[in-house]
Amino acid sequence: MDPIAFARDLIDIDSTTGREGEAGRFIAGCLHGLGFSVTEQPVDGDRANVIATAGPASKPVVMLSTHFDCVPPFFPSRIEGDRLYGRGACDAKGILAAQVAAAERLRLQGETRVGLLFVVGEERGSDGAKLANEAAAGARFLVNGEPTESRLGAATRGILRVKLHAEGRAAHSSFPELGISAIDKLIDAQSAETDVDKRKKIVWEIEKKLAEDVARPVIGYNVDNTCWDPKVKGLNLQVNSIYNGWRFEDVWLDK
Ligand SMILES: [Zn+2]
Repeated sequence: MDPIAFARDLIDIDSTTGREGEAGRFIAGCLHGLGFSVTEQPVDGDRANVIATAGPASKPVVMLSTHFDCVPPFFPSRIEGDRLYGRGACDAKGILAAQVAAAERLRLQGETRVGLLFVVGEERGSDGAKLANEAAAGARFLVNGEPTESRLGAATRGILRVKLHAEGRAAHSSFPELGISAIDKLIDAQSAETDVDKRKKIVWEIEKKLAEDVARPVIGYNVDNTCWDPKVKGLNLQVNSIYNGWRFEDVWLDK
């Protein structure tokens, strides 16, 4: 099995999240051709996770896993010098090809305790991984392939969602003095908060409420990310990359 040719064929199939059907069938077909036992686990429409084991009766102890959906836009593969380029070459079709090559090498040596799990939907909500987890066969270890500059990552950034509640009273905007603003209460609370982590959480909640109210530009203007409000402290602009907007974790209002 030639992992470079396999990676190129896979990269050349557009599998932008939501359109993984063809790529999944391609991977399943290749693994079946190599002699793996292959299961396609339907996720949504023609999108399916691909699960492979060394044989029908083998129960993997180690699963090598990654995803085969990609962020847009799609562009096909090309080789320049000793490098492979194309959407997903790095994240994560090149990795997927390497995992197939590794599992194939082990399988040819008679090793049956290794399995493969390739999921859809990783770039948007991980619906593939959630479903795969529900049907997990109980392997002891899972090695997840993601671009980490070939270093082992023992942990990864997670997500912590908190819900803060502040009660207010609705009033017509022509009589704001009749109302009580829940957002103002949160701003007062975070201005007084000295614990950085707690303050961050309150700021996230304010950000969310402002976004829901379509009032986000109160803190920063998305076009040039310039803030003119003298009350805003600690605004540290990310000049090199602004991706999906950015969070005001360390910004507070000095009211
Ligand atoms: Zn990835």
